[in-house]
Amino acid sequence: MNIIFHINFPSPVLAILARLEAHGHEAWAVGGCVRDALLGHAVHDWDLCTSATPDEMLHAFSGWAVRETGLRHGTLTVMLEGAGYEVTTYRVDGAYTDGRRPDTVCFTHSLQEDLARRDLTINAMALHPQAGLVDPFEGVSDLQHKIIRCVGTPALRFAEDELRILRALRFASTLNFSMDPSTADAIHAQCATHALRHTAPERLLAELLALLPGSGVLNVLLEYPDVLAQFIPEIRATVGFDQHNPYHVYSVWEHIAHAVAAAPPEAEIRLALLLHDIAKPVCFSQDVAGNGHFYGHAQRGKAMATQILQRLHCPGDLTDATARLIGWHDTPLQADPAVVRRWLNRAGEQQFRRLICMHRCDALAKTPSLCAERLGQLDLVECLLNTLLAERACFCLKDLAVNGRDVMAAGIPRGPQVGAALNHLLDAVLDGRLPNERQRLLKELHFHTENSFPL
Ligand code: ATP
Ligand code: MG
Repeated sequence: MNIIFHINFPSPVLAILARLEAHGHEAWAVGGCVRDALLGHAVHDWDLCTSATPDEMLHAFSGWAVRETGLRHGTLTVMLEGAGYEVTTYRVDGAYTDGRRPDTVCFTHSLQEDLARRDLTINAMALHPQAGLVDPFEGVSDLQHKIIRCVGTPALRFAEDELRILRALRFASTLNFSMDPSTADAIHAQCATHALRHTAPERLLAELLALLPGSGVLNVLLEYPDVLAQFIPEIRATVGFDQHNPYHVYSVWEHIAHAVAAAPPEAEIRLALLLHDIAKPVCFSQDVAGNGHFYGHAQRGKAMATQILQRLHCPGDLTDATARLIGWHDTPLQADPAVVRRWLNRAGEQQFRRLICMHRCDALAKTPSLCAERLGQLDLVECLLNTLLAERACFCLKDLAVNGRDVMAAGIPRGPQVGAALNHLLDAVLDGRLPNERQRLLKELHFHTENSFPL
């Protein structure tokens, strides 16, 4: 891994460091920003740490725009050039008794002590424009070798704060790094009993959503189902579950992991793929020839996924979009204009594109020789979709070439009959029985009203 040592500090960061130093304090950039800058990645938050106590910070920044965001824990946010910069007093954490947060925090004058409380070696470095890098736990070496490793003894660090387990997985996934063996062992050991019981559902979901788009997600999912099963216990039954089916080279969990990894990094698609086959174990049956079947697993999976995501306090729209995709994932998609129009009507363009993508990833995670044809069909479906959209094809009531006024003008009285008539016409257009042309649709309407056919 190429490490960049010549870092350009943004001018507000330089100004904050200089101000603290002018008042006789130490000040450094620290944590995630150092990691990302050394990797040459864009830095989204410059976090700073200082030997100044909160009172000393307030004094140093008197006259500046500041927000006392977490002053009790030593954090002050300095507002400069329209952005906020968190500056935190060097801290050591007190005892952890709840498995998540320290009971107390104490301020310290030692940068080394502050770095030692941090979770991972790659997150425990400090950087200064003149003084350079402070790296007591060999974070640079771990960046170079692409390794995720705890600061200190992994088992103790995870016992103190179990969220660190998910953070370790998240960075392994997003950076595509491997886990140091002793850190990996401690994660598995902690998850062999109970773990992640003290972490708020929102935090679990946030880490899961941060982990899923990572380029290293395949290995993380394959190696750590035990971690995810701490808060999605439904995963446990999928691990090693033999599908007894020629289409499947993988167990259910391996198939899920490969399908997720094949997807673009979009939350709805990756989350839907993570949970798409969650109901397979409960829907499993075998025919006389010994072939495995999973009748009803898409609908059952939709219900299970909804429950799982609600348990994790997932926002309603994400839950809904994900669950719908899961419910549809097993319905074959045909490259037929009527079928594609129906899908557009039912799902809308965005969700239908996600569904095609999901089908593709699902197929890519099955026996390759048996799925080539399926992938070709999906390309045709997508082509057809693009053509229909380019032609501005009609797939919902508002696209129809006639409206409610036309229906009433044709003699249908105001009321539910009007909607029924429009839906009848829409059905005919979706199926390709009628073109979406005003005159043809009006003719159809008159034909029905004159012959008193039920609409
Ligand atoms: P990103 O902001 O990109 O998600 P980050 O590493 O900056 O990654 P933050 O949550 O912003 O993550 O935390 C800032 C720093 O605080 C981390 O780099 C790490 O040094 C420390 N840190 C965060 N969470 C923990 C934790 N649970 N235990 C120990 N140290 C932590
Ligand atoms: Mg950060």
